[in-house]
Amino acid sequence: MMRACPAEEKKNTQAEQCGEAGTMEELRFEQKAVVAGEYDAVICGGGPSGFIAATAAARMGAKVALIEQYGFLGGMATAGYVAPISEFCYNGRKVIGGLPWEFIEDMEKAGGALVEKPLGNVSFSPEVYKICAQRMVRKENVTLYLHALFCGCRKEDGRITEVFMQCKDGLKAVRGRYFLDCTGDGDLSASAGIPMQDYGEPLQPASLYFCLGGVDTDSLPKVHHREQGINYHMEDLREKLTEIGKKEKLPVFGGPWMCWTTMPGTVLVNMTRTEADFTDEREETRAELELHEDVFTFVKTLRENFEPFRNAYLISTAVQTGVRETRHIRGVHILTGEEYLSAYHFEDAVSRGAHPVDIHAGGGSGQRCEFLKEAAYIPYRSLITKECRNLLVPGRSFSADRVAFASARVQASVMGLGQAAGCAAAMCAEKQADVQDVDIVSLRSTLTGWGAVI
Ligand SMILES: Cc1cc2nc3c(=O)[nH]c(=O)nc-3n(C[C@H](O)[C@H](O)[C@H](O)COP(=O)(O)OP(=O)(O)OC[C@H]3O[C@@H](n4cnc5c(N)ncnc54)[C@H](O)[C@@H]3O)c2cc1C
Repeated sequence: MMRACPAEEKKNTQAEQCGEAGTMEELRFEQKAVVAGEYDAVICGGGPSGFIAATAAARMGAKVALIEQYGFLGGMATAGYVAPISEFCYNGRKVIGGLPWEFIEDMEKAGGALVEKPLGNVSFSPEVYKICAQRMVRKENVTLYLHALFCGCRKEDGRITEVFMQCKDGLKAVRGRYFLDCTGDGDLSASAGIPMQDYGEPLQPASLYFCLGGVDTDSLPKVHHREQGINYHMEDLREKLTEIGKKEKLPVFGGPWMCWTTMPGTVLVNMTRTEADFTDEREETRAELELHEDVFTFVKTLRENFEPFRNAYLISTAVQTGVRETRHIRGVHILTGEEYLSAYHFEDAVSRGAHPVDIHAGGGSGQRCEFLKEAAYIPYRSLITKECRNLLVPGRSFSADRVAFASARVQASVMGLGQAAGCAAAMCAEKQADVQDVDIVSLRSTLTGWGAVI
């Protein structure tokens, strides 16, 4: 079973709030699937890890399919408004290079990104992100399946043979030689029976971002992320909100953190939060309903109590609540906090991490934030499992313990993992090798050639 889940009592209340909780009755529902295509590499999930992985595999000459549930790419960055993209540099030194950085340069050229030095955090326009990501994969002839929800797989002899996706025009199957789980939630891995870790602690909370216009951003320096070793939450705002919360009922909040979008007076706000398991539909429904209410409360509170927000207005909420944490696979190697914090240099290192260990309290507004003394390394063995010969898991459900995960989960790092996994899948396809037998020297040398700093 997965990890800690909220008390049964709370679940019952949630179920009441959201309608019927369902019965234990089960029905069988059979459907035929049309085979949509056959590929060297099939990537499930078009977020930061997925679209970079697809680009990498295709650039290596593989025939690639990318399956995404929304009508656009970018995952949490675009559907969740999660900003900034953290972190490409450590103390001014670039630690994530290659295709992820190429993507940032594309966004800069399109006028939709601002790289904040020395951290290499990137403020961006979600719309420019979407267009640059789709251009990047299309340039490499990746076949896109959009509005396609991955819903299961078939496995034979330790290999996944097909994945299934629910589309408006019915159930479809995609055949592949190698599969990448970039759903963030480990949907493909769970479906393939890969064992999951249980951290034995509540999940980090989920947060619905919202976009505000009409903000006096000049008086809010922390909408830029330019200093090493500081937490970008707005302390003064936090203190005043805490005071207000003593007099009137305010929803639980985090931060608040705000990030500029490259559009004048516009910020993406991260302050709502709730404890919820986003692999459980009842909890997802409850969380979305609750957080949409909370956004309206916070916008009103900000407007009425804080000068820079006096003329602020709500432009939009994110398409979906931001999910920090769900499933974590138990890979060939579980990257530990000790290895991570000591920047242990693995022989099979394929990406880096420079973001602090950033653990948000499951309940309440607390946060543990520990800054790194050196940029960490992430090994290839944390992207593969013992159980499956053709599966790679480069997204935030890769194999790490609670501490290492809490830093490596950020976007630049998972883009680096996507780059490595896409490249590895293409190399394995060429040699007909299992993912456990990839030529690691050749993989690292290709990645370094692309600009990875590993
Ligand atoms: C509140 C919050 C604050 C954060 N703050 C920061 C920050 O400041 N800086 C930073 O860099 N990172 C931050 N992160 C972390 C970061 O956003 C994620 O860890 C990162 O986006 C993970 O990338 P991914 O590709 O693994 O998954 P995701 O970004 O989750 O992308 C997964 C993709 O797969 C798709 N998908 C999922 N399931 C299916 C399915 N069944 N079928 C088809 N498609 C599917 C999704 O639609 C999505 O496009 C934050 C996250 C949250 C939630």
